Amino acid sequence: MKEELKKRSVTAPDGQIIEIEPLRDYYCEAPPTVQTPAYTKIVEKLFNWARAESIWILGFGTGCGAIEMRPLMSPRFDAYRFGVQVRPTPRQANLFIISGYLSVKTLKRAIRSYEQMQNPKYVIGLGSCTINGGMYWDSYNTIKRLDDYLPVDLYITGCMPRPEALLQGVLDLKKIIREGKGEGANKYAENFEWYKANQKRVIKDWDMPEYSW
Ligand code: SF4
Repeated sequence: MKEELKKRSVTAPDGQIIEIEPLRDYYCEAPPTVQTPAYTKIVEKLFNWARAESIWILGFGTGCGAIEMRPLMSPRFDAYRFGVQVRPTPRQANLFIISGYLSVKTLKRAIRSYEQMQNPKYVIGLGSCTINGGMYWDSYNTIKRLDDYLPVDLYITGCMPRPEALLQGVLDLKKIIREGKGEGANKYAENFEWYKANQKRVIKDWDMPEYSW
């Protein structure tokens, strides 16, 4: 077990000794559950409208396509007018954009970030690398198909896709959500064992609990 994950005690400024058990304190192992729809169709429709109009992107650039996320919030593209904004923490975000190639090392962080996001949550795969490995198709340390590891709601093709394509992708995602088809988080919960098996197959130094949120 890594040093930083071992149980230890630290001394607070007031002299108090505090016991820290990282795997218990920083993670929760309760598996994800399927979120059932609201009890009436009209309420669910209202919820979906609200979800579509408040897309909060997790500000986590994974590959070179991340550079295309920056102009999105600039005056030229002004994604804010569509209810889109960027958040610094997974706790506040509901859209994870995997912006290109994903190394196995980053995949580990991406999984933890995705699991920390609250339901309902969505994933966009930006660029060819997320679809089939792109120009890294024969790389030894990148994954090839993102949807083997995380549930993808929408892919945007290109290498690299321009901000216009990204903006159009977000608008298409809004349509999916409004129609009640943004079911990625439920798919993840339903097929949890399958996703975990795929993740562990490539992440050899798995040292996290099964699910961390
Ligand atoms: S699709 Fe192209 S631009 Fe995007 S991460 Fe891959 S190589 Fe980079």
